[in-house]
Amino acid sequence: MIISRLETFCNEYVGFVRLTTDDGQQGWGQLSTYNSDITAQVFHRQIAPWALGRSTDELEQLVRVIPEREHKFPGTYMNRALAGLDTAVWDWRGKQQGKAVTELLGGTPGPLRAYASSMRRDITPEHEVERFVRLRDEFGFDAFKFRIGSECGHDQDEWPGRTEAIVASVRAHLGDEVSLLVDANSCFSPERAIEVGQLLQQYGIEHFEEPCPYWRQEQTKQVTDALSLDVTGGEQDCDLSTWKRMIDDRVVNIVQPDVLYLGGMLRTLKVARWAAQAGLACTPHCANLSLVTLFTMHLLRAIPNAGRYLEFSIEGPDYYPWQEGLFTHSPYDIRNGQAMVTDAPGWGVEIHPEWLAKSQYQHSEIAS
Ligand SMILES: [Mg+2]
Repeated sequence: MIISRLETFCNEYVGFVRLTTDDGQQGWGQLSTYNSDITAQVFHRQIAPWALGRSTDELEQLVRVIPEREHKFPGTYMNRALAGLDTAVWDWRGKQQGKAVTELLGGTPGPLRAYASSMRRDITPEHEVERFVRLRDEFGFDAFKFRIGSECGHDQDEWPGRTEAIVASVRAHLGDEVSLLVDANSCFSPERAIEVGQLLQQYGIEHFEEPCPYWRQEQTKQVTDALSLDVTGGEQDCDLSTWKRMIDDRVVNIVQPDVLYLGGMLRTLKVARWAAQAGLACTPHCANLSLVTLFTMHLLRAIPNAGRYLEFSIEGPDYYPWQEGLFTHSPYDIRNGQAMVTDAPGWGVEIHPEWLAKSQYQHSEIAS
């Protein structure tokens, strides 16, 4: 079917794409979060003109060709916008065939173990432990990620001693049975990262995310080679040749593409495939409860090298006020520490009409 209309509904934080084909059928996708209003401009200017008038069967070609047609504009905004087209076509295809997207990708609906992912550094170790214990008791989480160091911090901690204190405290209070993960968000030099990594290993932390500035792959590789725990990363990387190098050089032990930063499902599947060929697991980045986590759920149920768990943000309205009211029914119901991919067609989610009514609207369509 021919793509005849592409609409965006957005605010500054989040934006959705509605794709309509010439037979009137529709699919919903999402632009990446943050500055989504800017991404929507890029979508209508640089993505939609190449997609309108083309068939939904041509997505694979479009995702390859659009970055070539727009090759003077490499980088994040193009990919954030391209992801809106890609994810809308997948929903459209699922609805046509009466299948969940994961099934179209060769997967099956079903459960996924989730890890409770904290986004906060302004939180004391005591307060973080309290949250984790509450979440464990209420939702059955048995895996938790917390922040260490400071963001792009040049070896500085958020406050002196916080990293050492939170590592010891979370392990002591949650016990040895739970999986613990940490994220340094580009904080450390290789020397300091290795020192911190040795401490993490003593406490049985299994996942050390983004230890060094992420763009310094040679630094990250030094840390990966020196430590036995899994060094992980890649959330910001949206350039496929960067990904290829990162995987070929074994810069990290676990790859963490973000479906929406990277440009959609097809590009993420490509990275996951390269990782599988290199024997690396894929634990994607999905740090909020817009559709990015749902897209990741469908992906993880379909790839052979899915990591041990799904990232699941534990932040509420105080941290992510814009997440509220996006859907008619939330697709994020955690039971026994697990999220569930249903067999509903497409993504199996509906954007709330009241949210849409309040959003900024733009459309592009085939000139008639
Ligand atoms: Mg991270």
